[in-house]
Parts: sequence; C-alpha cells; structure tokens
Amino acid sequence: MDYDYDLIVVGGGPAGMLGASTAAAKGLKVVLLEKNDKLGKKLFITGKGRCNVTNNGDADDFFQNIISNPKFLYSALRSFDNHHLTALLASLGVQTKVERGNRVFPASDKSSDVIKALQKHLQINSVHVKLHTEVKGILIDNHRAAGVFINNDKKISAPKVIIATGGMSYKQTGSTGDGYKMAQRLGHSVIDPKPALVPLATGEKWVKDLQGLTLKNVSAKAVINNKVRAEQFGEMIFTHFGVSGPIILSISSLIKHYIHTETNNPVLLTLDLKPALTNEQLNARLQRDFNKYSGKHLKNALDDLLPQRMIDIVLQLSGIDMHKQVNRINKKEREQLAHTLKNVTLTVTGTRPLDEAIVTSGGINIKEVNPSTLESKIINGLYFAGEVIDVDALTGGYNLQIAFSTGYLSGLSAAKA
Ligand code: FAD
Repeated sequence: MDYDYDLIVVGGGPAGMLGASTAAAKGLKVVLLEKNDKLGKKLFITGKGRCNVTNNGDADDFFQNIISNPKFLYSALRSFDNHHLTALLASLGVQTKVERGNRVFPASDKSSDVIKALQKHLQINSVHVKLHTEVKGILIDNHRAAGVFINNDKKISAPKVIIATGGMSYKQTGSTGDGYKMAQRLGHSVIDPKPALVPLATGEKWVKDLQGLTLKNVSAKAVINNKVRAEQFGEMIFTHFGVSGPIILSISSLIKHYIHTETNNPVLLTLDLKPALTNEQLNARLQRDFNKYSGKHLKNALDDLLPQRMIDIVLQLSGIDMHKQVNRINKKEREQLAHTLKNVTLTVTGTRPLDEAIVTSGGINIKEVNPSTLESKIINGLYFAGEVIDVDALTGGYNLQIAFSTGYLSGLSAAKA
C-alpha cells in the first residue's frame, strides 16, 4: 500500500513536536497535525510565560516527583533526559539557566524561545506541519494504524501514528481530551481524567476576606483521618473559593486519591504560619512582642508577626478577645494564640475544575502501552506521547520533561519499527 507519509503525529505540543522531529531525523517522512493556528499554545503559557522546561535533579529526584506511574516512564526518561533536552535546546540556540529547586528555564525567560527552537528542529528535519487540522479519528487496517481522518472527512494515510493530544486542562490551548476518545474507540481504556496541580476549594467563610493575600514561608499539611498525608513548605495564596499557590497545587496532586474518592473523612488543611519556630520559641516571641506593645489592644500588637489582613482572622480563630489590652493577656491565652498560629485549619470541599488544573491526572491506561517503545499493545503502529498517557508529576519542570521524553521515545520507536 502506498502511504502519504511514514508517520503522522497528532498534536503540536512539546510531545508531538519532539516526536515528529526525532522520527524525521531518523529518515521518516513525517507530518505533524495541529488543530490550532499555531504550535505549542500551552507551552507558551507554561511557567507564567517563562517556561520551566525541565528540572536539573538526578533520576531519583525525577522518580520522587512523578506522582502517577513513575516506573512506566523509566525507558522514556532514560532515552531522553534533562541533559539531552538542555543540550538539544542549546544546539538550537536556546541557553538555559537553573533556578531555585533545580528548576530549569530558558536564559531569556521566554517560553516563545523554546517554541521557536522546537519549530526550528521540525524545519531542519523537514517535518511537514499542518495547522488548522483537527484529527477526528484513527484509521485502522487489519489491527494496524493506517492513518487519520481529519476535518471535512479527508484522510491522510501512514502506517504509524503518534497520539500526542495532551490532557484536558486549560481547554482554550487545544487540549480537549480528543486523544482519549480516539483511543477508546480503538479498544483502549482511559483512566478517568481528573484535575491535578489544581487549586483547592475550602469551606470556611473567612477565606474570602483574605482573597489575594499571599503567605510566604508557611507550611501546609493535608490531614485525613488524623493522618498527615502530605506536607509542603513555601508560598500559598487565598482566593475567593479557597486556596492556591505552589504548595497547595503540590498538595492537591499528592492527595488526589483522597479528594477524588467519595469518603466521609474530610480532608483538613492545617497551616502553620510560623513553621520555623517551635511552640516554645513562638511563645517566647509572643512574650517579647507583648512586652513591646504592652499598652495596646491585642489586635494592634501583632503587626511584627503577621500580615495586617491575617490578624483579625487569627484572633477570631483563637477565641481571644482582640480588644483586650496586651498586658492583661494571661499565659494560657498566649499559649492558645501560639497554638492557633501553628494550626490554622481549613476544610477542603473539593478541587477547582479540570480546566483550572495545571495537569490532568488519568488518561491512556499504561497497562495497554509498551513502556519501552510507547507503542499500543492493542493496535500495531499506534504510539502515545505526553500528557495523554496516565502520567503526571509535581511542579518543577517534570511535566514538560515527561512530554519531551515520551515524545522522543515514541518518535524513535516509530523510526525503528
Ligand atoms: P499539550 O501541550 O497539551 O499539546 C497537545 C496539542 O495537541 C495541543 O496543541 C492541541 O491543540 C493538540 N490537539 C489536541 N487534540 C487535537 C486534535 N484532535 N487534532 C489535532 N491537534 C490536536 N509543565 C512544566 O513542566 N513546567 C511548567 O512551567 C508548566 N507550566 C504550566 C502552566 C500552565 C498554566 C499549564 C496549564 C500547564 C503547565 N505545565 C508545565 C504542564 C505542561 O504544559 C503540560 O504537561 C505539557 O504541555 C503537555 O505536553 P503535551 O505535548 O503532552 O500536550
């Protein structure tokens, strides 16, 4: 049979772009199909436009930060790791830099430079890029991939197809879960897509009063059934519905199984506003502040310790009269205040919707995909790459590295097969 191409790659995100250029570099005639008017729409908004492209940690660090199915990714991450990625970007003219937490960014702080580099890679390797081209389904011939059909029921034929359509979050970027449906129609099972790295909704009314307030250097613990299931230290922000920010997003992924399961045990989020101080040290610190402000009302004596907007809330939670004069606060009340500062508790009522999630957890069931090649175990010549697979990681550049590594391995495998 005469085919139009050797390989069709569906989806022009990081996984699809690298998959297409890798296969083409090995001699395949490749077409990359993207439904948007440009490539890498989601990549453009990553890292607040700066693109945290990978992490400089070692292999162990990667596996610790991958939440779903780290073992499945072993071959992919070995075939194309963070050093391969930064070397490739450098060869395409993009220097990178390492920041706090080993996060790697382009030196220019511009995600557009990463997109331009990937486009250059596609061009150098003569990948045919077709924009405004929405794939509607995969053509099968005798249990083998045979091509795709696109808008207007047109067909494009190829003996190999990579599905790299991404997850289901931030739908306006093009990731609308199409790959799940295509794969399901071919007999693949899909683990229910759920939001991960997502803000949390909480029940307490006072949270709304703090909307927009950022807390730095705090710790948050997720407590379920009296057990601490996740703990993170760093920055968070109050919102109109609950809480968000780096430590909250991480916690949402670490406890996703508990949040998404119907259970009578609520998830409690306990904030320690002074994690660097022990109870005793905090008590002593309060004593010092109270000596300094002894003539003031309690609510006017905590400015050195807390952001202004937090003071009334903390005092309400502690149950101590905020108008009491500081020199009349007794030891028990002081200890009670110290306790509250280290245990501000919120009740998690759920996550924000998938569309507000940084990544999708769930996707193509890894049991039906060969981890060494990323080829489907159900349909020959069909491959999967990127977030469409049931894999997800914490923040820090790990999710993009997963997209690049699986993109690379799928392209390489397609070229070898
Ligand atoms: P995507 O990037 O989602 O690309 C899939 C592509 O397929 C899209 O272009 C889509 O239009 C196309 N497509 C879908 N269906 C079809 C179809 N039927 N036909 C044709 N084309 C189709 N990760 C990090 O590691 N670091 C970060 O700094 C970071 N920041 C992020 C910030 C935000 C706000 C978000 C939402 C995510 C962030 N992520 C980050 C996660 C990261 O962007 C994703 O994990 C990654 O983009 C997944 O790559 P992908 O190629 O698998 O899918």
